[in-house]
Amino acid sequence: MEDSKKEEIKNEGEGRSLNFLEEIIEDDLKTGRVKSVLTRFPPEPNGYLHLGHAKSICLNFGLAKKYGGKTNIRFDDTNPTKESVEYVDSIKNDIKWLGFEWANERYASDYFQQLYDWAVEMIKKGLAYVDDQTLEEIRENRGTVSKPGTPSPYRDRSVEENLKLFREMKEGKYKEGEKVLRAKIDMANPNMLFRDPIMYRINFTPHHRTGTKWCIYPMYDYAHGESDSIEGITHSICTLEFDVHRPLYNWFIEQLGIFHSHQYEFARLNLTYTVMSKRKLLELVKNNYVRGWDDPRMPTICGIRRRGYTPESLKMFADKVGVAKRDNIIDLSLLEWCVREDLNARSNRYMTVLDPVMVEIEGWEQGKVEWFEAPLNPAAPDGPKRKVPFDGTVYIERDDFMENPPKKYFRLQPGGEVRLKYAYIIKCKEVVKDADGKITKIICTYDPTSKPGGGAWRSVKGTIHWVSIAAAKKLEVRLVDRLFTEPDMGSIPEDKDYKDYLNPDSMKVIGGYAEPALSEDKSGVAVQFERLGYFFKDTDSTTENPVYNRTVTLRDNFKK
Ligand code: ATP
Ligand code: MG
Repeated sequence: MEDSKKEEIKNEGEGRSLNFLEEIIEDDLKTGRVKSVLTRFPPEPNGYLHLGHAKSICLNFGLAKKYGGKTNIRFDDTNPTKESVEYVDSIKNDIKWLGFEWANERYASDYFQQLYDWAVEMIKKGLAYVDDQTLEEIRENRGTVSKPGTPSPYRDRSVEENLKLFREMKEGKYKEGEKVLRAKIDMANPNMLFRDPIMYRINFTPHHRTGTKWCIYPMYDYAHGESDSIEGITHSICTLEFDVHRPLYNWFIEQLGIFHSHQYEFARLNLTYTVMSKRKLLELVKNNYVRGWDDPRMPTICGIRRRGYTPESLKMFADKVGVAKRDNIIDLSLLEWCVREDLNARSNRYMTVLDPVMVEIEGWEQGKVEWFEAPLNPAAPDGPKRKVPFDGTVYIERDDFMENPPKKYFRLQPGGEVRLKYAYIIKCKEVVKDADGKITKIICTYDPTSKPGGGAWRSVKGTIHWVSIAAAKKLEVRLVDRLFTEPDMGSIPEDKDYKDYLNPDSMKVIGGYAEPALSEDKSGVAVQFERLGYFFKDTDSTTENPVYNRTVTLRDNFKK
């Protein structure tokens, strides 16, 4: 992205006009449709949360907060086959980490009895029936958009028979798939969802909360609106693909005559170079394409937390993305820009060398160590300092030296001068190579009068980072990069699989050397390796082997 464009986005901030959801809420408060705002975040605990969920969390909690309301978390736990406590715990953990507090922790399973009772009421009203057709037959008989469906031969069962069969379904008398409960609406409705949608199916997998108490489970369209209604949710916000479900959401609520929650849809978040579907992310984890849900390459909240992203950067991102009514794809560089913006302001700086070549200072007294002071964060030059040792033998980056440089090269070169950041100006005198012609050592002289703070300041065009070899701490560095090579993973050719586009270079593991102060860092936030990028200490770290993940480079330099 161009810098001017980014500036524009950055400055959008507070003064912006209301988004369409804010307009709706303000109107609802004005007309008195609602007295206060209650939103919900309704994850299914069948995987870890990803950045799309983060967007939804920021939206639901953010809107409630803005209008003095509250937000519930509600686990949509209606399919025991795919759900687990591990997922429930991770979801709660991620929301807390983002910095949001829910008013109530609820589960669709809290409402199983109420939902069952309402289903019985629907049967009594002649609005639901037990169908013995297989799922396959039900699908076939639904018809198409241009062709009405064929009513089930069981559609006209008596209320008594339906009540008995539904009770027996609940009692476990029938096998999975043998019977379902369907709403009796209209087999010719142009909205396919109205062609007698399934309300309940049989499933004998034990549920992570209700165990074996239930063997029938409500379907999304029946459970979701009714759960919203029970909780008194005023604004039920979901993604665009649910707009065709909205009439059905309303229909159930209206038939039952219960509190009317309203559903609103916004465009789901799509990001370049990423997939965001729990099903796909689960597949990557299960088949070891990545090292788990919290692999720092994953677009999961726990993955990017491990990578060094901050809650602040994600909230900033959610804010900049805004709410759209039409599907779009957001450039990953916007997310990277947000984390740079946040870390630039508050992360501590350290020097590390990741591709070292040795520099020896001629004339430096053997064993002499001088300590230089450097600010932990240049944004606060008078703030906390770190101490950097210099002893005449240092590593610099291999690419900070060129033997035959082009014209505008200001880093180290034969006969040229550079400043070792925070320390002396050095001048390259001689290059030592091995038998293969690889540079093994660069011999330099130094200017003792160029010591920072020691008399007149002399400036040179190039400043490079370095570490004292004797004092350096060894690191393992994981150069985390984009997980996929394709920007628009939503429109890859039909004969291809998304896994065909995994980036083989998404994580290069290398060694590195750091100035000693890095080991003392207690900030808990990603640090800046000067001139290289932001890096975050990984949970795999041990005292002997500190491991750092690259959060993001300093500039947008991804090679397409
Ligand atoms: P996935 O397709 O990844 O499994 P989902 O929509 O099935 O996602 P849920 O657990 O049902 O996942 O979603 C919880 C909430 O998060 C829903 O309100 C859903 O609309 C929202 N959500 C999910 N993905 C996105 C996304 N990419 N952008 C915005 N909101 C999302
Ligand atoms: Mg879902």
